Amino acid sequence: MSHPTVNFATYLKDYPDERGYFGPFGGAYLPPQLEPAFKEIAHAYHTICHSSKFISELRRIRREFQGRPTPVYHCERLSNKLGSCQIYLKREDLNHTGAHKLNHCMGEGLLASFMGKKKLIAETGAGQHGVALATAAAYFGLECDIYMGAVDIKKQAPNVSRMKLLGARVIPATHGLQTLKEAVDAAFEAYLREYESAIYCIGSVVGPHPFPLMVRDFQMVVGVEAREQFQEMTGFLPDAVVASVGGGSNAIGIFSAFLNDPVQLYGVEPLGLGAEMGQHAASVTYGQPGVMHGFKSIMLKDEAGEPAPVYSVASGLDYPSVGPEHAFLHELGRVNYVKADDRQALQAFYNLARLEGIIPALESSHAVAYAMEIARQRKQGSILVNLSGRGDKDMDYVIEKYGYGEDLLL
Ligand SMILES: *Cc1c(COP(=O)(O)O)cnc(C)c1O
Repeated sequence: MSHPTVNFATYLKDYPDERGYFGPFGGAYLPPQLEPAFKEIAHAYHTICHSSKFISELRRIRREFQGRPTPVYHCERLSNKLGSCQIYLKREDLNHTGAHKLNHCMGEGLLASFMGKKKLIAETGAGQHGVALATAAAYFGLECDIYMGAVDIKKQAPNVSRMKLLGARVIPATHGLQTLKEAVDAAFEAYLREYESAIYCIGSVVGPHPFPLMVRDFQMVVGVEAREQFQEMTGFLPDAVVASVGGGSNAIGIFSAFLNDPVQLYGVEPLGLGAEMGQHAASVTYGQPGVMHGFKSIMLKDEAGEPAPVYSVASGLDYPSVGPEHAFLHELGRVNYVKADDRQALQAFYNLARLEGIIPALESSHAVAYAMEIARQRKQGSILVNLSGRGDKDMDYVIEKYGYGEDLLL
């Protein structure tokens, strides 16, 4: 395959192009009625988000409301159990609301209020994006409509309560299978009706242009902070940076600061229960090029060409595609896309809790699991992991289904 010559010193300025393409991937595949709405967002992003007023306000919010910068932490006990390679964590679990998602939700909320919008609209599956967005809406005094499959509403009661406490309306999608896909349809329909006074907020580096660009830029703070903190702690850059990949926002956030460095980058996809279709959500590993949800990327399709069923123990990772920039970085060979299955993720979950006093989100546990694999194989060096979120949300489920994991402890 022939690759464009990419200069990583100017990459973040060069990609995406003005139409939202990262090489062959990205773009905006929209029904004609929605084109003006997304053009308006792209225009607002290019003007407002680069104004000094926006930038200084976002900085203040990050410091005073979110509790940034989040620390980098050296896992000495975990590292020593595995050998002599050292594992470090970027503690996004300590970001307000307990995960990295608030980084882009606060950016989207700030943009909405600069644009004079009254309402934030989104869909949510497990409820994590809904909770982060409802938090942003409460902060900015905006209305918030979260569309959620009726089945998911029953399954995710604590997150539904959180969204309601924060003042959001949780609107059930009651057609079809009543899960995420139906919620996406319902949210898009609502946006079509309300785009003059509302803005649609996407929860990862996916969707039509400008969201993959915008969400990357809002998440980049993770990588910028981590690179500086790591160098200050150790005097070096890490040998490898590892992050879990659902849609890919926490991964792009940390990778973007290291693209032009001699640092290996690993995006960890969920292998779930195995390589058969329906048992995993390893979209880059097993997917093929195509268009879905308004953008071109790599995706998992069934025989009919529809989005394939996906599974992972981590509900934040079970998406049948990835952000277009990941498809591009894969094609360029700059990021290695690798896998961790449910069992490996659970092993990381239990051991990080026991050895370091940190209960990680099951999504983040996939990244920790792969870092543990690398640490076992190498005699020296260091690995920086994006610990994208905390595991309080997963604890009850894990204990009920798998107990306290005695057999998985190192
Ligand atoms: C949603 C979520 C993810 C996956 O989303 P990305 O866009 O791939 O980052 C990972 N970790 C946590 C804690 C999440 O809530």
